[in-house]
Amino acid sequence: MRLPPALAESWDWQLEAACRGTDPGAFFYLDNERGEARGTRVRAAKLICRSCPVRSECLEHALDSHEHHGVWGGLTEEERRVLRSSG
Ligand code: SF4
Repeated sequence: MRLPPALAESWDWQLEAACRGTDPGAFFYLDNERGEARGTRVRAAKLICRSCPVRSECLEHALDSHEHHGVWGGLTEEERRVLRSSG
């Protein structure tokens, strides 16, 4: 995992996040979450990401730091894995 340096500029984008103040549980699946429950949660998270002004910064962070869990930048962990392997 490669985290950005502990400089405020590296994390400032999070101040603009559309998900700021949202329950983190909307973006991370529970161990026993399956099927429609998971699909409903992921669609709701992606809806928030769609209007997020820092979506590209969020996705870049998730790809750079190899975030293995949750919806980041509008993509699930599986979608980020596919994106990483394609490019
Ligand atoms: S893209 Fe989605 S997960 Fe990332 S900061 Fe914006 S709302 Fe949050």
